[in-house]
Amino acid sequence: MYRRDFIAGSIGLGLAGMPLRAIAQTNIGAATLTTVSDGNLVLPAGFIFDPMPQDELQKVRAAYGLEGDQLTPECNLALYQDGENTVLFDAGSGPDFAASAGKISDSLDALGVAPDEITHVVFTHAHPDHIWGVLDDFDDPFYSEATYYMGRDEWDYWWNPATVDEIGAARQAFAVGAKRRMEAIEDAVALFDDGDEVLPGISAVASFGHTPGHMSFEVRQGNDAALVVGDAIGNHHVAFERPEWPSGSDQDAETAIISRKRLLDRLTAEKLKLVGFHLPNGGMGRVEKSDVGYRFIGDRA
Ligand SMILES: [Zn+2]
Repeated sequence: MYRRDFIAGSIGLGLAGMPLRAIAQTNIGAATLTTVSDGNLVLPAGFIFDPMPQDELQKVRAAYGLEGDQLTPECNLALYQDGENTVLFDAGSGPDFAASAGKISDSLDALGVAPDEITHVVFTHAHPDHIWGVLDDFDDPFYSEATYYMGRDEWDYWWNPATVDEIGAARQAFAVGAKRRMEAIEDAVALFDDGDEVLPGISAVASFGHTPGHMSFEVRQGNDAALVVGDAIGNHHVAFERPEWPSGSDQDAETAIISRKRLLDRLTAEKLKLVGFHLPNGGMGRVEKSDVGYRFIGDRA
């Protein structure tokens, strides 16, 4: 399988000779928000593109150099450090999901952060590349000291024993895998709802559709703010160029379109920083309006 080399694309932060996987960083007031690579996924292009209008899609694919039959999106976890808390947004893939992902251990190591220094893990949603990483090779908690936070609707959906039967064959393993990880963290999890201040400076923004309870987060210190959007804006090409197109990666495409457009509107209107889990070059940047839709302007080219 084709595997993209992330080190080659990484930006060094000055620690000579170390493989650096902290690939983007910004200040939020006195706090820092850093993205940390968990590797990447290898997806059949149709997983995202199949439901889209194919003739118009070809133009977007050509413009973004996406004409092959595979996509290799980065997986970037956001790390928020405010001096008190060391918060990780999502847990990563862990050892069991994909050979090209589950690299967070090396990346945290390169940054000088030990897994047991993570005080909180805040989930956008419970897909495998976001939650399976709570368990290590031995099925022990990887973030051994962390408290976990998940949106209540997301928790209820994956916790429901009916979900595995109703989700469809293509995602059945997602349901089984999510439930097993959630059982492992059940005693250390707190649930939240839209608008709640999950932790100081971190507020939940409902962005349902990719999954039934997907959450984004506003990270704010005074006037300095970013939106951590997880997979609600799931790529740098069609999600921006044509946010109104249904994506095959969203469990409820129509609801996901509404959420995506609302986030893009807000990001441009309020000129917020953007952190996206599967966006390129560390996934940090901002949004501009384009002729028909929007454009991702990454901090790192
Ligand atoms: Zn994802």
